[in-house]
Amino acid sequence: MNISILKDEIVKYSKEIGIDKIGFASASPFSELKERLKIQQENKFQSGFEEEDIEKRSNPDILLPGAKSIIAIALAYPSKMKNAPRSTKEDPRGIFCRASWGKDYHHILRDRMEKLESFLKEKVPQVMLKSMVDTGELSDRAVAERAGIGWSAKNCSIITPEFGSYVYLGEIITNIPFEADKPIEDNCGECNKCVEACPTDALVQGGQLDSNKCIAFLTQTKGFLPEQYRKKLGNRLYGCDTCQTVCPENKGKDFHLHVEMEPNPEIAKPKLKPLLTISNREFKDNFGHVSGSWRGKKPIQRNAIIALAHFKDESALPILYELLFKDTRPVIRGTSAWAIAKIGGFEEIENLQKALLVEKEEKVLEEITNGISIIKNKQ
Ligand code: SF4
Ligand code: SF4
Repeated sequence: MNISILKDEIVKYSKEIGIDKIGFASASPFSELKERLKIQQENKFQSGFEEEDIEKRSNPDILLPGAKSIIAIALAYPSKMKNAPRSTKEDPRGIFCRASWGKDYHHILRDRMEKLESFLKEKVPQVMLKSMVDTGELSDRAVAERAGIGWSAKNCSIITPEFGSYVYLGEIITNIPFEADKPIEDNCGECNKCVEACPTDALVQGGQLDSNKCIAFLTQTKGFLPEQYRKKLGNRLYGCDTCQTVCPENKGKDFHLHVEMEPNPEIAKPKLKPLLTISNREFKDNFGHVSGSWRGKKPIQRNAIIALAHFKDESALPILYELLFKDTRPVIRGTSAWAIAKIGGFEEIENLQKALLVEKEEKVLEEITNGISIIKNKQ
């Protein structure tokens, strides 16, 4: 087997199966990443969604004994929605971040990686392979950086010169010692736009992310959203794109190369009020295919309630009261109380006081009491 020829064949084949960029990296331990992860853990910057074992995250040989190289892939996703519906006063809309437009990218990337795996297995039957995307142990970003897919930018994305940071990343560890490609030079330079634009100052010392402050992470939590972040949420239902949209490297970057990634505008930018009463079945049927639904409907509904407060949508008050008095989930009841207070005037105090009499859950009682104070402070 000539490894150099095989590499050329893989690159050629990757284009045929809809992989937009491919790179090769050595599988030696990611020592710098290990240090960065340790600092993140010490500072409690992690989201809790990532693999806890730093060794596993930074040493490919633990994941695939005998690992020699890693094949990194990138698929470009669209940044602009065709026929995006407008939010109106009667029907305000929320927004899913771009990485949740179209079919869940985990499935799309897995499909491409399975094809690459089959190709490799045909060429080298005894090859050993381990693929991962996003939820895998390895850091997609560290691999992509080493493989020359793009540079690791201050907004914590990988920026490719061709597609900007609007790319999904995946990787395959293998025991074939492919020659490594060269990393790309960091082009952030003096720019600091993403750090300045982040609504919650979650980007610390450029390149480090405090996940606990990041709206993208906060939209995925299942509990109460701390009050200081509710205003910052705006109409985001899932994820946050601000540090990508402000990036000059993303200017004009909008690729529609994969039909599965095209968003259904009514799903990617849905009307808020119908979301509050959607059944589990309807949610699964309509939103089950997008990556933003992975935490279920509760966080999306909580965020929709906060978004309605953001729009001060008075027509939402009857539904919010319905939720406050009847929903079985404390997070939904409590967040509704807060939204009612943000939207309504003095006349809502009496209703909130009624809710105080029937509510049993301590956190919800706190939210109702806080809501009453919010209204009183408006006077
Ligand atoms: Fe800040 Fe949003 Fe970027 Fe998170 S995703 S770092 S909140 S701009
Ligand atoms: Fe880098 Fe500027 Fe883009 Fe931030 S906004 S990622 S600093 S180029």
